[in-house]
Amino acid sequence: MAQLSDDCFAFGGALLPVEAAQALIAERVPPLGGEEDVPLIAARGRVLARDLRAPLPLPPFFNAAVDGYAFRHADLAPGQATPLALAGRLPAGQAAEAPLPPGATLRIFTGAPMPPGADTVLMQEDARLEGGTVLVPAGLKPGANARPAGEDVAADAVALPAGRRLRAPEIGLAAALGCTTLPVRPLLRVGVFSTGDELTSPGRPLGPAQTYDSNRFTLLALLAGLPVAATDLGILPDRAEATAAALREAAAGHDLLLTSGGVSTGEEDHVRAAIEQGGRLVFWRLAVKPGRPAAMGVVRKGRDEAAEAVPVIGLPGNPVAAVVTFLHLARPLVLRLAGAAAETLPRFPARAAFAYRKKPGRREYVRVRLLPGAPLPVAEKFSREGAGLLSSLTESDAFAELPEDSLAVAPGDTVQVLPFAAVF
Ligand code: AMP
Ligand code: MG
Repeated sequence: MAQLSDDCFAFGGALLPVEAAQALIAERVPPLGGEEDVPLIAARGRVLARDLRAPLPLPPFFNAAVDGYAFRHADLAPGQATPLALAGRLPAGQAAEAPLPPGATLRIFTGAPMPPGADTVLMQEDARLEGGTVLVPAGLKPGANARPAGEDVAADAVALPAGRRLRAPEIGLAAALGCTTLPVRPLLRVGVFSTGDELTSPGRPLGPAQTYDSNRFTLLALLAGLPVAATDLGILPDRAEATAAALREAAAGHDLLLTSGGVSTGEEDHVRAAIEQGGRLVFWRLAVKPGRPAAMGVVRKGRDEAAEAVPVIGLPGNPVAAVVTFLHLARPLVLRLAGAAAETLPRFPARAAFAYRKKPGRREYVRVRLLPGAPLPVAEKFSREGAGLLSSLTESDAFAELPEDSLAVAPGDTVQVLPFAAVF
């Protein structure tokens, strides 16, 4: 069971700052254990379970970085061109049979091991061949165009730390170290519910007062980029008992549950009460806009008070609010439970081309389009502000992040923006 503390009730009825919620996750939620070995390619997107120590140095041996001529730098006459006798040829994949004779050079190709004694390579473009000699111009530094063993990764160094999410570069590095499999954490089993009597699934006929459920698909698509095995658990009706029962049941087969909608204060909002009934609420309401009515807690796997519990996050129903709270609450929790190292979403500065007033004490995310500009890109606000506007996400490039203590943004101000390319 993930031990989520409820100390944060110290915040009383106040809104929990986003950073406090993230600190709670980092400090109180233990990663789930377990590991399995998977083939290298299947490890992409997974979380490395143990440090990977380099069983060999990279590169494994001293080698030429260019096609050219290998020689001993000490054989060069200082400050002038030096003729060296061409003494052989060393293609990639072939080891030198004998040390380099004094005053000689060897034709060498990129990736070929340096012959014993040689320490420097002249690029073939800079060489002048005269009969059996190569004229080496002055000015080459010792060690030029040669790659020492271990300059990339030293033998026995931690090449990849436990908790690293494995992307293409990590897969390539593991292959270079000779690995065929990697020990990874099990995929986190995440169940995703929508809630609301007004919702129906795409593919079904749309009743007169109904809208299609979009959050479930947005959330499943967001989860697809994380080390998760997600389950689509459908739409819950706006009924307290059904909500509580569904959470309890789903807790049995999952490591984390996500819901959206039904978490505000209306009589038709049953998620918070269902969490309280089936487990324990850790916090409710974040100091963020859009996204305020977000809840986090645990629900037990069954009615027994002593039963194990799994974390649950109740995301708000409005589609933009669901996305914002997913990114700042659900995503860190997923990474934490999955054993991944904490990640900060990248922000970069942009010049605001809009005026905006906000309440102090909460963080706000404004959807912006980014236009080229110097010295900073220009952030243009999306024309409308509703938390339900799906097109505000498809037609913007980034969230401008307005910190808790700010009161307003004026045109020309520098704002930090969180590019969608980094999160979607
Ligand atoms: P709620 O918090 O349940 O009152 O929902 C707030 C708004 O978000 C309402 O307009 C809901 O119809 C809408 N909403 C809730 N869940 C979804 C969903 N899964 N897909 C699309 N819209 C939703
Ligand atoms: Mg609802």
